[in-house]
Amino acid sequence: MDGQPGSPTPELKLYNTLTREKTAFAPIDPQNVRMYVCGPTVYDFAHIGNARPVIVFDVLFRLLNHVYGGDRVTYARNITDVDDKINARALRDYPGLSLNEAIRAVTEKTEKQFLDDAKSLGCLEPTVQPRATDNIAQMIEIIEKLIANGHAYTAAGEVLFDTKSMADYGQLSKRNLDEQQAGARIAVDAHKKSPGDFVLWKLSSESEPGWESPWGRGRPGWHIECSAMSGRYLGDVFDIHGGGLDLIFPHHENEIAQSRCAHGTKVMANVWMHNGFLQVEGRKMSKSEGNFVTIYELLHTEKFGGRQWPGDVLRLAMLMTHYREPIDFSIKRLEEAERLLAKWPAADAADAQPDAAVINALADDLNTVAAIQALHALAQSGDHATFAASAALLGVLPEKAEIDEAVAIEIDRRVKARLELLKAKNFAEADKIRDTLLAEGIQLKDGKDSATGERVTKWEVKR
Ligand code: AMP
Ligand code: ZN
Repeated sequence: MDGQPGSPTPELKLYNTLTREKTAFAPIDPQNVRMYVCGPTVYDFAHIGNARPVIVFDVLFRLLNHVYGGDRVTYARNITDVDDKINARALRDYPGLSLNEAIRAVTEKTEKQFLDDAKSLGCLEPTVQPRATDNIAQMIEIIEKLIANGHAYTAAGEVLFDTKSMADYGQLSKRNLDEQQAGARIAVDAHKKSPGDFVLWKLSSESEPGWESPWGRGRPGWHIECSAMSGRYLGDVFDIHGGGLDLIFPHHENEIAQSRCAHGTKVMANVWMHNGFLQVEGRKMSKSEGNFVTIYELLHTEKFGGRQWPGDVLRLAMLMTHYREPIDFSIKRLEEAERLLAKWPAADAADAQPDAAVINALADDLNTVAAIQALHALAQSGDHATFAASAALLGVLPEKAEIDEAVAIEIDRRVKARLELLKAKNFAEADKIRDTLLAEGIQLKDGKDSATGERVTKWEVKR
């Protein structure tokens, strides 16, 4: 199913926040297509708003794998395990442990939960999942370069990026520095040359986590982590950088400033993609608003709508809206996704290729709405193998439940018994068996043996 050189692969078009245009995607190196997505800060459960970029960029990863070949795509999603929110959580939850041990307890537990959540949502594992704490040396190296070439300075125990030193700072968010000046809190930022300057490194007190550096024992700012990890795993310039809309400023703007000024490049990534917000009653779902439901709660507790929801239902509910549009999250939407999934067959792709209409929809800036419509038409057409191959691109393939050998033999026995009853024209008893099986999730399909003309019955597991 890999794109063959010379074979007609669809033209992939992506909306680029940098240019505010949808343009044809051309990888720097088709042998190694590189995508970076900002991952979670691991201090607490991820909420279903956080699940949106995880799902959206998983669909893009699947599409890139299809178009360029699975071994020619590198997808890096980081784990932010250095952050003052983590320190606070460690002190609160593990007062008995040393700070380092407490931090590790928080980050390990949260990272594991995040990976479990992502798996439950049908997401493939990214090619690399670097942790910030494993990349401190790379961060220090970039900061040294920025100081050496006049883009960073030290002041009051911090190393700061000098935004005025970069002529075209603000390209991504289209903000100019003077606008930021107006709203700045001058008193707090007295040590900064300009109010928009941001922290690359800050000193740590004894009771804060820290690493040795040329500027003393300290810890990195948030933005430098992603410059270091993307550079290490994808290179100074790569193809696609993604995340939620809220990351455009300051996080992505500052990643760009750091990486471009350290490496002397015109861009950091060619295409910048941002998903819209998942909202509750018109407001962004967020920890600070308190209007959040965690992925864990949705999947494993009865907190949302009084019941648990399967991961593929949440995934499909998310993909029923284009990734750049806001989603108003509701029980109604989950129910709609669930009804749709129930109509889809749990089929095997075997050697089938995905359907052109589904691929073309996804190739048009991830039009998952059109892709789902095309998929539904396929499901109804009865071409279940093509349906399955296509559904795999969206990652919503209803899984064929694993059936135990002994259970399968027992089902075969009941199917046979029903055939005998039908032969004897005992339709009431035959229907009873069929209905009981259906209630157990086993669907019967009657047909005729083409050679003998006799009735034969196949069965399959419904969702
Ligand atoms: P955070 O842990 O806040 O850095 O968020 C992790 C990822 O989730 C980032 O890509 C955010 O942009 C994204 N995100 C956070 N809240 C929402 C939301 N309500 N809807 C969609 N994406 C979100
Ligand atoms: Zn980032």
